[in-house]
Amino acid sequence: MIGFSVRSRWLRAALLTACTVPTAATVRAQSLRPDADPRIEQLVASVSLQRLQATATTLAGFGTRGTLSDTLSTTRGIGAARRWIYNEFTRVSSKLLVSYDRHLLAQQGRISREVELVNVVAVLPGKSTRRVYVTGHYDTVNSRRLAGADATATATAAPGQPLARPAIDNDADAPGANDDGSGTALTMELARVFAESGIDFDATLVFVTWAGEEQGLFGSMAHASALRNAKGVVEANFNNDIVGSSLGGNGIVDGESVKIYSLGPEDSPHRALARYVQRVAGTYVPSHTIRLMAREDRFGRGSDHSSFTANDFPAIVFREANENYERQHSPDDKLEGMDFRYLAQNARVNAASAASVALAPPAPRVTTGGGSATLGRGRSGYDASLQWQPSPGAVAYRIYSRDGWTNDWQKSQVVGNVTQLLMPNVSIDDYVFGVAAIGADGNESVISAYVSPVRKMTDVLLKK
Ligand SMILES: [Zn+2]
Repeated sequence: MIGFSVRSRWLRAALLTACTVPTAATVRAQSLRPDADPRIEQLVASVSLQRLQATATTLAGFGTRGTLSDTLSTTRGIGAARRWIYNEFTRVSSKLLVSYDRHLLAQQGRISREVELVNVVAVLPGKSTRRVYVTGHYDTVNSRRLAGADATATATAAPGQPLARPAIDNDADAPGANDDGSGTALTMELARVFAESGIDFDATLVFVTWAGEEQGLFGSMAHASALRNAKGVVEANFNNDIVGSSLGGNGIVDGESVKIYSLGPEDSPHRALARYVQRVAGTYVPSHTIRLMAREDRFGRGSDHSSFTANDFPAIVFREANENYERQHSPDDKLEGMDFRYLAQNARVNAASAASVALAPPAPRVTTGGGSATLGRGRSGYDASLQWQPSPGAVAYRIYSRDGWTNDWQKSQVVGNVTQLLMPNVSIDDYVFGVAAIGADGNESVISAYVSPVRKMTDVLLKK
């Protein structure tokens, strides 16, 4: 950024500091990785592989958790499953406020009859009402097994003439150990470790196991839409869908990395959240590699984080490194395909990230009321002049920057409890800037980036 290159990140940051004139007296250079908070280290260490395994085993034991499966049996079907999840949330801690989030869904698409969708929600109240979500879907599907007439018709259909929408046999086995027993078990385990941690979080933690994902994200969409109508504030949604196997269908094993997909553009709040997880995991779970994907999800596939992004809430989805498509949506999605050591690592990454966001102040606002970035060229016309709104609970801010053609932050400096910074002779055309808020205990918020208006320049010029 300032016309010279040095190898050491620390030295580079220190030089950057020396060459800029912040409005605060206190400036110090730091690594891009946050310092460890011992409380978060303890929380991450309390994630239990055995509990994850036991939970996934019970979930798979319901035979099917299909959206249209039996709701009356105490041992099989989605009704038994959700009552068990509710009871588990209730049993692990009296601090969790547990509820059924019910939505009546009319017959449509892959929903062959009217059905009540029931999300199971566990809330750990924080000091503020801003919410951090950890989620997975507990419904399953066996799309290989078709219902009677459709099975016959499909079997006798001429080649190239498949049925438009064959009916699924809702009572067929769909154990869903990995899809999404893995995300459900992770969500339930984090509810336990957060509630038992004794940590007084600033944000309210919300742990949800969704229904109706397999037919079109219905449970999460109903929840997120209602939340938006109620003007709820969501800081983050960490969605987990298929995160429990390290062995791909192609035979490749990778138990050391996990993928995160996030909706763009480059500096969307979703991408900011994805980068945040990568930095936080580097501090708390350094043995696990976070692979960021600049896509909303895999090709032609989706999950419940999209219900949040559709309602303008920051959201990402975790996906295992190598999937086995043969086991998905089939009676073969069994426990034997799982790697609980791997699932535990993914749970630790989620735990560190959610705890860090929930302990940090909210991300600072870097726009005017009208939505324009509060970034200018200063009095000289050639400086970078950054301004931001004060974030409740912040004692300092960290300024990030990167070259305009790169996709992740390269440099940072901590400034004091101020709300502006002047960087002489730094062009706002050539670099991207962001600001994060730091709380009294050192935890840092997600970075708010200064984004130029999404308008084509011809539109701007023609308006004149
Ligand atoms: Zn899924």
